[in-house]
Amino acid sequence: FKWSERQSQVLESLAQEFTLSTAQLETLTTEFVRQMHVGLTSTKSKDLAMIPTFVTGRPDGHERGSYLALDLGGTNLRVCLITLKGDRQLEAHQRAFKVSDHLQEADVTELMDFIAISIQEFISSEHISAKIVEHPSDSDTLELGFTFSFPVTQTAIDAGVLLRWTKGFHCPGAVGSDIVQLLQDALNRKKVNVHVAALVNDTVGTLLAHSYKHANTFIGAIFGTGTNGAYVESARNIKTMTTDADEMIINIEWGNFDKDKTVLPVTMHDNKLDRESINPGIHVFEKMISGMYLGEITRNVLLYLIDQRLLFEGTSSPTLNRHWGFETKFMSAIEQDNSSTLIPIAQILEQDLGIYLNTQVDREIVKFVCQLVGKRAARLSAMAVAAVVRQGLKAGTLAEHGYPLKVSANDEVQAKQNGSKVEAVGHGASTKDIIRVGIDGSVFEHYPHFEERMYEALDEILGSSAREVVALGIARDGSGVGAALAALIATKNS
Ligand code: ADP
Repeated sequence: FKWSERQSQVLESLAQEFTLSTAQLETLTTEFVRQMHVGLTSTKSKDLAMIPTFVTGRPDGHERGSYLALDLGGTNLRVCLITLKGDRQLEAHQRAFKVSDHLQEADVTELMDFIAISIQEFISSEHISAKIVEHPSDSDTLELGFTFSFPVTQTAIDAGVLLRWTKGFHCPGAVGSDIVQLLQDALNRKKVNVHVAALVNDTVGTLLAHSYKHANTFIGAIFGTGTNGAYVESARNIKTMTTDADEMIINIEWGNFDKDKTVLPVTMHDNKLDRESINPGIHVFEKMISGMYLGEITRNVLLYLIDQRLLFEGTSSPTLNRHWGFETKFMSAIEQDNSSTLIPIAQILEQDLGIYLNTQVDREIVKFVCQLVGKRAARLSAMAVAAVVRQGLKAGTLAEHGYPLKVSANDEVQAKQNGSKVEAVGHGASTKDIIRVGIDGSVFEHYPHFEERMYEALDEILGSSAREVVALGIARDGSGVGAALAALIATKNS
C-alpha cells in the first residue's frame, strides 16, 4: 500500500482498536460464561437473560406428520405446512398474507381473527389439504407452532404474555395477555380445527430445524439483522425454574452481552453508533456484530478518516453523510473485490455512494476498514459460540447428553478439558461426534470469509483442532420448520 506516513499512523491505530487478540477473546469468553451463570441462577436485571423456553427435547430426524407453522414478526404473516417424512426429509409449503396498516393498530381480536381466517384459507386449499390427509400427525387436530417475534415472557411451551408491541404494531388488548390464548380463542371463534401447541423464539426454531437435519446439534444462532443464540442446557443447571425434564433449550438473548461494557472493546465509532441509535446502551454486543449495524460502524470510520483529509481528499457525499447511508451488503461486495485495481470498489463508491473521485489508495483504505469491522464481527460471533461450548463442557451437559467430549478411545475425539481448550486427538472426529451449530442469517451466509474467520477464532479459543470438534452449518427456516418441530415436541410431551 502506498499510504502516506499520516495515513499509516491513523490506520495502524484503527487496526489496533479493532483487532481482537487471542488474549482478548479469552477474556471475553470467560466473562460470557460467567454472565451465562448469572442468568441461569437469577432472574434479576442482568446482561444475558438466559430465558427458559420450555422446549425440553430435540428432534432426531425420524419425526413424521404434518404440522403448521405461523410466523408473525412484521408486515407479513407467514403460514407454513411442514410435512416431516422421517429420514431427515421434509417438505414445506407456505403462503404469506399482508398485515395491513389498519390491522397493525386494530383491536387485537380483529388481528387474531384475521390470522385465524388466513390459516383457514391456507389449510383448506386443495393442495394443502391433500398433503395433510396424505401425511397425518398422531393428533386429531392440526398442531401449530407460533413464531411470534415480539417481547414475550413465556410461562409454558404454549403460553406467553406480551410485554410490549414493537415494529409498528399497537393493537390494544394484547399487552399483558397470553398471546397463545388470544390466537386459540380466535381459531375457536372461527371454527378452525387447529391447536396452538408451541410458542417459539426464532433462535430456538433454528436449533430445532438443524437438529432434524443433523444429529448432535447443540446450538442455534442467528447472524442477520440482529444476533442471538440458543443452546441445550441440563435442567439441573437452570435455577430460575423447575422442570421434570433432563434438558431444556435456553434462549440466551446474547445481543445484550456485557451491557456495561466491562470487557467489550468498544471504540469511539461504536459509541457514536450506540448514542445515535433508538436504544442507546442496549444490545451493545449485537451492535458490533449484526447486519443492521456493521455498515454504520464502517460509515463512522470512513467519515472519521475523511474529516482528517486522509480519504477522498476530505470530501464526503450526501449518501455517506446520511445516518445508515452505508449498508452492510456494500461491505460484502467491497471485501469480495480481489482485483489489483479495485475497480469494482470504485463502482460501488460511485453508484451506491455518489463518491466519484477516488484513487486506488482510497479504495485500498475503504477495503481495509471493511476488513477490520467485518473481521471483528466474525471473531466476536465465534467467541459467543465458543463460550456456549465451554459452558457445555464445564457444566457437564455435553458429556451427559452423549456428546463426544467424554469419549476417550484413541481413534475418536477426546476433548480434554485442558483449561479451556478442546483437543481432538487420534484420527479426528467422526461426523457423528461433532458438536453442530445451526446458523441462520445473511451475515453468516453472505459476508465473505465470515465463516473462516469464525473458525480461526474458534481455534484460538478452543484449541487448534476446534474445527474437528465444532461444525458451523447453515440452518434456514427456523420460524417454519423449527416452529413445526416445536409443536410436535410439545404434543408428544403433553
Ligand atoms: P433477518 O435477520 O431480518 O431475518 P437476514 O438474515 O436476511 O434477515 O438479515 C438481514 C441483514 O443482513 C440486514 O441487516 C442486511 O444489512 C444484512 N445483509 C443483507 N445482505 C447482505 C450481504 N450480502 N452481506 C452482508 N450482510 C447482508
